Amino acid sequence: MDKTLPSDACRYFNEAMETLDRPQIEALQLERLQATVRRCMNSPFYKERFEQAGLKPEDIRSLDDLRRIPFTTKKDLRDTYPFGISCVPLRECVRLHSSSGTTGNPTVILHTQNDLDEWANQVARNLWMVGLRPDDVFQNSSGYGMFTGGLGFQYGAERLGMLTIPAAAGNSLRQIKFMTDFGTTALHAVPSYVTRLYEVMQSCGVDPRKDTKLRVLAIGAEPHSEEQRKRIEEMMGVKAYNSFGMSEMCGPGVGFECPEQNGLHFWEDYYIVEIVDPETLEPVPDGEVGELVLTSLCREAMPLLRYRTRDLTRVLGRTCPCGRNHVRLDRMRGRSDDMMVLRGVNIFPIQIEKILMQFPELANNYLITLTTDDDNDNMTVEVELEELFTDDYQRLQGLQKRIQRALKDEILLTPHVKLVPKGTLPVSEGKAVRVSDKRKVYQ
Ligand code: ADP
Ligand code: ZN
Repeated sequence: MDKTLPSDACRYFNEAMETLDRPQIEALQLERLQATVRRCMNSPFYKERFEQAGLKPEDIRSLDDLRRIPFTTKKDLRDTYPFGISCVPLRECVRLHSSSGTTGNPTVILHTQNDLDEWANQVARNLWMVGLRPDDVFQNSSGYGMFTGGLGFQYGAERLGMLTIPAAAGNSLRQIKFMTDFGTTALHAVPSYVTRLYEVMQSCGVDPRKDTKLRVLAIGAEPHSEEQRKRIEEMMGVKAYNSFGMSEMCGPGVGFECPEQNGLHFWEDYYIVEIVDPETLEPVPDGEVGELVLTSLCREAMPLLRYRTRDLTRVLGRTCPCGRNHVRLDRMRGRSDDMMVLRGVNIFPIQIEKILMQFPELANNYLITLTTDDDNDNMTVEVELEELFTDDYQRLQGLQKRIQRALKDEILLTPHVKLVPKGTLPVSEGKAVRVSDKRKVYQ
């Protein structure tokens, strides 16, 4: 057994770090920020950025000075593809992860061995926080390979000392067999996949409450509503905790819910969190929604300064009954680029999901299609029915009307609503695709 693991009775994985008070967090952050900035001067990219801004590492004397540093964007990562931001020679790196790059050059993130060790510690901290211990059996249904949800959770769960099952994505029957045969108590999955898994369980007569030992789910990697989480908890008879991560900051482990389930604790010993107005780039007050900007504090190979994540969220608080004072952020509304603009109204898929999940007649899978008909932009929401009652036309029509009204109250537009039988909409193995935009583009 790893001697550095805390005793099973301890609430914290790293008590000293998890229970820092605000002045301690800020002192540590300043020290780590200064070291990170000095390290960044080994990166040709950051060296030039600092020179252009007339800034020297010594100019960063307080946390407020962070705001003098220019932002880093996904475009910067693409423009310097593959290794241009790196702060260490390649021989010191032991792994790289890369995004899919469907919209241009992929982005590459390099890791030293120390980066990987710290990443595993972050993930282990999260899993420990929600009560997982070396006696637990952890199954990971993430894709392995370049997607960080695979190896990220793998090493974190091993670091905690659990028996770990790298089931990888898909093949639901095999996932269920592993779960029942190996006594899986904790599962990591994207939320849309949990629903799929439950449907397959139902079809083969497996009741997760009776036939499995599942008690904890880590769900994340894609936006989901509180209503979706509650459904998942009820369906599976477990506690489901929201997990936030992104490849640019390592992967999973950046933010996670504690047992209070009152927002995601973002680990401020590893990251500086800023929420800014995406237009003016000025900080917004606590409680107001803005773009999440992260500065990594412990990364060696590729630290990122003021990285614009494009994720929209807000600060919920900086204390918590769990004893951790690391900032609590609201669940992500989505990325600024997930936002649909329809007839001048800004809409996030998650707003639609929130409404749909309030109807017990509806199952969990839905698809939003945007089209241009007669020069008007329209939205169609297709959603699967929990049970088939397609012969009861009146009941169907009544339900459709109620959904349409509820959606209108939320998004201020009246979409078409199509009720379809369960299992008819496409399911993806990784992150769910919720929007299909088929609108005409006028040049
Ligand atoms: P990709 O950029 O290819 O999607 P990543 O795995 O790095 O690859 O994705 C990170 C992004 O996934 C985040 O920026 C965020 O938009 C989304 N994401 C991750 N975790 C969550 C979560 N718990 N809730 C909402 N969105 C999430
Ligand atoms: Zn807490």
